[in-house]
Amino acid sequence: MECISHDIVIIGAGLAGQAAALAASPHADTAVFSKVHPLRSHSTAAQGGINAPFGNVGEDDWRKHAFDTVKGSDYLADQDSVEVLCRNITSRIIDVDACGAIFDRQADGRLAQRPFGGGSFPRTCYAGDSTGHEILDTLHSQLIKNNVKVYSEWMVTSLVVEGNVCQGAVAMDLRSGERHLVRSKAVILATGGAGKAYERSTNSYPCTGDGISLAYRAGAAICDMEFVQFHPTTLLGTNILVSEAARGEGGILLNAQGERFMQRYAPKMMDLAPRDIVTRSIQTELEQGRGAGEQGDHVWLDLRALGQGVLLQKLPQIYKLAQDFLDLDAAEDLIPVQPAQHYTMGGVRTNNDGETSVQRLLACGECACVSVHGANRLGGNSLADTLVFGHLAGERAVALVRRGEMPIVDRRHLEEGERDIDALLGEGGDSTVDIRRRLERIMWRKVGVFRSGQDLEGALREIQELQARYASASVPDGSRTFNTQLMQAIELGFLLDTANMTALGASLRRESRGSHYRRDFPQRDDQGWLRHTMFRSVAGRLEVYYEPVRVTQYQPERRSY
Ligand SMILES: Cc1cc2nc3c(=O)[nH]c(=O)nc-3n(C[C@H](O)[C@H](O)[C@H](O)COP(=O)(O)OP(=O)(O)OC[C@H]3O[C@@H](n4cnc5c(N)ncnc54)[C@H](O)[C@@H]3O)c2cc1C
Repeated sequence: MECISHDIVIIGAGLAGQAAALAASPHADTAVFSKVHPLRSHSTAAQGGINAPFGNVGEDDWRKHAFDTVKGSDYLADQDSVEVLCRNITSRIIDVDACGAIFDRQADGRLAQRPFGGGSFPRTCYAGDSTGHEILDTLHSQLIKNNVKVYSEWMVTSLVVEGNVCQGAVAMDLRSGERHLVRSKAVILATGGAGKAYERSTNSYPCTGDGISLAYRAGAAICDMEFVQFHPTTLLGTNILVSEAARGEGGILLNAQGERFMQRYAPKMMDLAPRDIVTRSIQTELEQGRGAGEQGDHVWLDLRALGQGVLLQKLPQIYKLAQDFLDLDAAEDLIPVQPAQHYTMGGVRTNNDGETSVQRLLACGECACVSVHGANRLGGNSLADTLVFGHLAGERAVALVRRGEMPIVDRRHLEEGERDIDALLGEGGDSTVDIRRRLERIMWRKVGVFRSGQDLEGALREIQELQARYASASVPDGSRTFNTQLMQAIELGFLLDTANMTALGASLRRESRGSHYRRDFPQRDDQGWLRHTMFRSVAGRLEVYYEPVRVTQYQPERRSY
């Protein structure tokens, strides 16, 4: 079997991977691997918009954006990284606009900007409520124009690392089932989040933490996995996202009694307080018996005041989703919503150029942790993160490959990779489907919105039992062509790694900060815990250590909205 060779290999074709590819491909031989067609990456689902301090509505600037981001992060973000994000994002959006993305505009032709949670100005640029789709399509057409080699429906199953230097990867062509050795001078991980470990999640099927687990297994440092964002408003039952844009445009939340309960929790920002706060407020309403419906398991999102005209113009996708999935007319009916997992704040630790602790291995986008989101990401900041840090990682990879030879990769790596995959095939093993369902339930119930030491320790024990069961699990379908059962079994291995880090980080962090809320330690503790949780694999064992948070301009303050 022939070995595939490219100067730069990017794993992931969402916005981060494509932004990296566009920065790198004019200067170096660049290839992108994606386990789904690039346009099916989760980025396409992004609805509400992308933050950039253009100041088209009010006197905004990068410093105000940076402050909002740091405050939103509950002071856990690294402030020099936040500055890079907020200084660079306007240029990246101008690039995307110039490539033909159709953003909504004001009457004077400048980009329209809507309010989003935790922002002191309307600074979220948008394309209706399909912003991710619009930007991803635009970048993808540039990828085609630049003749970037895309391995679509190829799944990377392990990284090749020798002496702490990344030399490539092992990848499986899902169409034929064949495994290939891929060698390169630099690898960029852009594999997205790990939300599918949760029973309730807005994430799409491919979001199984692959890159975080691949990097962890290869010895790279992973950061802040206990910080998991829960989105306050997802459709009851399916947990399809209802973007914050719905509240940005004027939607409000009501409990079973029709009370606008957010006035009790965030009297100033109300429904547009950051996500961690709105989510906990909803969950508290549900726990205290003010939830709506027979099960008391949801609150109402009231969009009626917007009227059908505004809904169809600015939130057409949400209008349609409510119609298709709940048979409701958002212009006339209340929409039942409940919180669900939404975003992975932790990930592969990188510097501002995307470099990880393994040489020639970079990471960007949701799988990375720079960290600009800290303990709680502001809505609209993730798309910004993908474009800014994807671009920087692409540039950095170009600089790295200029000073590097193509490695000679030992075929043993392919053999080992194949052995691990083949071990999952066969009759009579434990059921991967059953392990996955249990994992999802444990994560939602015990490592969810509200956490406690007892629950977290229980979750850790159960996850470790599932890891042991996984070692003897197998999939009975031995076919080679599009073996989705096998693919999901490999993904389950990745999810078990990320879930284990999430539960361990959460059980050790004895404070409440951003999305991580401990009932037994309800206060933020800057003295003890203004630090990043770091994870790494040492001789196959998970080790935890801590690193300081980089504070530049903004000293931690009490966070109120
Ligand atoms: C429903 C929804 C709405 C959102 N709305 C917004 C919003 O309005 N504004 C905002 O800022 N953020 C939003 N977010 C968050 C944001 O969309 C994501 O964080 C961001 O798009 C992630 O981009 P990414 O490029 O890092 O990863 P993704 O877009 O998830 O792409 C991951 C890529 O990696 C590939 N991949 C994964 N594993 C492998 C493997 N093993 N081998 C090969 N390929 C692999 C996948 O095929 C895919 O191409 C939203 C998220 C969701 C779920």
